[in-house]
Amino acid sequence: MLRRTFLGLLGATAAGLAAGKPAAAAANTHFGGYPDAKGVLFDGTRCIGCRKCEGKCNEVNELKAPEKPFDDLTVLDEKRRTNQYAYTVVNKYEVEGAGSVFRKIQCNHCMEPACASACFVSAFKKEPSGAVSYNESVCVGCRYCMVACPFYVPAYSYDDPITPKVIKCTLCDPLIASGKRTIPGCVEACPKEALVYGKRDELLKIANERIHRNPDRYVDHIYGETEMGGTNWLYLSGVPFDEIGLDTHLGTTPAPKFTKGALGAVAMVVGIWPVLLGGIYGVTKVTRNEATKARMDAVADAIATTKAEDAATLKSAMDKAAADKAATVEREVKKALAEAAKAQEAAEGEEG
Ligand code: SF4
Ligand code: SF4
Ligand code: SF4
Repeated sequence: MLRRTFLGLLGATAAGLAAGKPAAAAANTHFGGYPDAKGVLFDGTRCIGCRKCEGKCNEVNELKAPEKPFDDLTVLDEKRRTNQYAYTVVNKYEVEGAGSVFRKIQCNHCMEPACASACFVSAFKKEPSGAVSYNESVCVGCRYCMVACPFYVPAYSYDDPITPKVIKCTLCDPLIASGKRTIPGCVEACPKEALVYGKRDELLKIANERIHRNPDRYVDHIYGETEMGGTNWLYLSGVPFDEIGLDTHLGTTPAPKFTKGALGAVAMVVGIWPVLLGGIYGVTKVTRNEATKARMDAVADAIATTKAEDAATLKSAMDKAAADKAATVEREVKKALAEAAKAQEAAEGEEG
């Protein structure tokens, strides 16, 4: 509800500021999905919580190794979220009558993504492949995508304080598009075939068939078929979906409708968002400027220190030179006086 309220407020604000002008994309009130879009079907009745999917995701995406190895299943004792080093995590749920049940968590690659609706610079894009991509080069770091996502997915990387970025599952799209992989790493690694990769339409058929053939094994619903307008990551479960941490109150309205548009809503509000988010962007920019200023101050300090050290060295050298000079003068004066005294003595001797 928080996300929906947030999106609704965005829509109301945008609509108000747009002074009733209809969005170009408003006509696109329903997005049927890209025909060849792929996705993944997760079958909770098959998952054994082995974390092989987590390990493979970490490997194929070349992420930092976690503190505890992937075969350490004690991590399942705590509910985890995806983070900058984990595009996916598996959580364990104790369900009455069913015991331990596991669910894999990652970006659901929504058909009409809330993250994209909330992003005024279009850093997120629904690709025809089915993936929701993220372009860090245009991201301004406002983190509205994190607030908007109904599944609490986007994480934030703070490794580089000057250019932080949003982190989430890519559906292995870049690896598949470049020919490095044919299926997502997690799907390949699953020893129980709890994950199936394929066209979303076909995954829905497989899911429906499993439910039809084993009605006692499955809840009669495919989570993601309609939730928030549908997702490309789909779920089957043997226990109620809310028992495995999935929000069953999201409704079927796609996120962009809350912003009074569809996939193109971003274009509608592009002229408004900078005003709405100006403060936030300003803060981000200030932070960045502060970081830059801090660096420049450090350089200036170093130069000043060097100059001061140089000045001290020079002064010391000059003092030494002055002291040397004084000593030389003194010595020369003494020498001259001694010679003068000697000459005087010699003169007096000649006279006597
Ligand atoms: S699950 Fe969240 S991050 Fe992923 S596409 Fe949907 S709204 Fe965006
Ligand atoms: S699809 Fe790729 S990026 Fe997403 S969880 Fe699976 S391995 Fe990780
Ligand atoms: S690899 Fe398969 S069985 Fe193991 S935790 Fe992941 S989804 Fe579940």
